[in-house]
Amino acid sequence: DYRRGGYHAVRIGDTFKNGRYVVQSKLGWGHFSTVWLAWDSQRSRYVALKVQKSAQHYTEAALDEIKILKQIAEEDPDDKKCVVKLLDHFKHSGPNGQHVCMVFEYLGDNLLTLIKYSDYRGVPLHMVKEICFHILVGLDYLHRRLSIIHTDLKPENVLLLSMIDPSKDPRKSGASLILPTSKNKIVAESSSSKEIKSSNGDLTRNQKKKIRKKAKKAAQSCAQKEASSENDANPEDSNVDAKSNEDPVEEQSNGSVIKDDSANSDGPKDACQAKRGRRGSRSTRQKLLAAADLNCKLVDFGNACWTYKQFTSDIQTRQYRCPEVLLGSKYSTPADLWSFACICFELATGDVLFDPHSGDNYDRDEVILTGSLGIDDGTSWHDAAQGGRYSRDFFNRYGDLRHIRRLRFWPPTKVLMEKYDFSEQDANDMTDFLVPLLDFVPEKRPTAAQCLSHPWITGGPRLLEPSMPSVKLEVKDGNISELKEEKDGREAM
Ligand code: ADP
Ligand code: MG
Repeated sequence: DYRRGGYHAVRIGDTFKNGRYVVQSKLGWGHFSTVWLAWDSQRSRYVALKVQKSAQHYTEAALDEIKILKQIAEEDPDDKKCVVKLLDHFKHSGPNGQHVCMVFEYLGDNLLTLIKYSDYRGVPLHMVKEICFHILVGLDYLHRRLSIIHTDLKPENVLLLSMIDPSKDPRKSGASLILPTSKNKIVAESSSSKEIKSSNGDLTRNQKKKIRKKAKKAAQSCAQKEASSENDANPEDSNVDAKSNEDPVEEQSNGSVIKDDSANSDGPKDACQAKRGRRGSRSTRQKLLAAADLNCKLVDFGNACWTYKQFTSDIQTRQYRCPEVLLGSKYSTPADLWSFACICFELATGDVLFDPHSGDNYDRDEVILTGSLGIDDGTSWHDAAQGGRYSRDFFNRYGDLRHIRRLRFWPPTKVLMEKYDFSEQDANDMTDFLVPLLDFVPEKRPTAAQCLSHPWITGGPRLLEPSMPSVKLEVKDGNISELKEEKDGREAM
C-alpha cells in the first residue's frame, strides 16, 4: 500500500503544512489512512493527523468526510455532542502523490482497547451505561439534527478522551518533544514493520523491499492466528478501489510499531477469550479504572452519509451489520442503532454479539440473521425479510430461512445470567434496553433520543452503583498507578 496512490510514508519528526505539525508517534491506521500523533507548533498542543491515501477515490472520500465533519463542527460550537472535532485540513505532496490530511483533536484509547483492559470479561456496568449515554448523545445529534448516518459504528470507532492534557507542553514537565529533523528513525513503511534506524533517514530500495517482505510475513502469520475473528478484509489483498468498511485495525493483529497497547496490536481474540474467568491483571485493571471518567466521542466519518444522500448499499463492518443491510434493503438511521446495541453487549460481556466463524459469506450472514430472529419475538419479520436484493438468498417465499430450519430461542436474559453471570435484575434491565434495538424491523427500533430516556440510561450510571470503590489514579512517567492512600485492598472490579 506504500506505492503511488497509496499511503504516504511518514517518519517521526516529519513536518506537515510548512513545519506547523511535527509527527511524534503513530496512533493507528485504517484502509484509507494512517493516523499520527503530532505537535501543533502554532497552537502548542497535540493533535491527531490523519494522512489519507492519495488515489483519486480516497481523495474524494476524504473530501466527503471533511464536508460531513465541518457540518458536524458547525452545529456543535460548545463541543457537547460527543463527536470528534476537525481542526484543520490541507493537502500534502509526497512521492506517492497528493494526500488529503485531516487534523483532529487528539483523543485516547478506543473501546476495543478498553474491552481488552477488562481481559475480555466485560467492562463494569456503570461504565457501560456511561459510555452508552455518550454514544447516544452523539447519535441523536447526527440523526435528528443533521440527518447523518455514521454507518460504521464499532468499538474501534468510539474513542475515550485522552488521559493527557493535549495542550500541556511536555517540555514543561521535563519530558521531551520530538522536533523537526531530517535525521530521524524510520517509523513504519508498513504498520507491521519493526522500527529501523537509518543513518540519514532515507530508505534504500533494498531496505524498503526487506521491510515490505517482513511486514507481509508478519501480517500473514497474524492473519492465520486471527482466523477466529476472520473477516473479509486483509490489507494485503483488499480491493483498494472498493470503499471498504472493514477496518483492518482489529482484524489483523499487525502490531503497531509505536504504541503497543493500541487497538492495532490486539492479539488473537481466542487466546484472550481463554482468559475469561481469570482476574484481570493489576495493570489492566488500573488502566480500566483510569478510563472511569468516561467521556467518549465518535470518530471515523470516512463512510458516513446523509439519509437523503447515500453513497453505497454496502455499509457497516460485518459483526455490526444490521439485517436490512445484509438483505440489501434500504437503510437509514436505525442501522446505527443496531450497531450501537452490538457495541453495548460487547462492552458489557467482552464478547462480540454476532460473531459467526465458519462457512462462506452467505453462511455467516445467515447466522447473524438467525441470531437476530432468535432475539426478536418472531412475529414481525416475515414482511421485512422480503424485498431486499439478497432476500431470496436467505428466505423462501414464505419468509422462512432457507438453510436453517429451527431456531433455538435462548432468551437474552438467560444468556446474560447463565453465560455471563449477570444478576437477574441486571440481566432483566439490560435486556429491556437492548432487545428492542435488535428488532429485525428497522422502523421498530427505538431512536437514539428514545434510548436516552430509557431507565437503563437515565437511572444515572454512577448513582446506581454506589458500591464502586473510588480509586484515585495518577499518571507518572506515562504509567498509570493508584494513589497510595487509596490502596486499601478493595477489589476494583
Ligand atoms: P480510517 O478511515 O482509515 O479507518 P480512522 O479515522 O478510523 O481511519 O483512524 C484510524 C485509527 O486511528 C483509529 O481506529 C484510531 O485508533 C486512531 N485515531 C483516529 N482518530 C484519532 C484521534 N482523533 N485521536 C487519537 N487516535 C485516533
Ligand atoms: Mg476506521
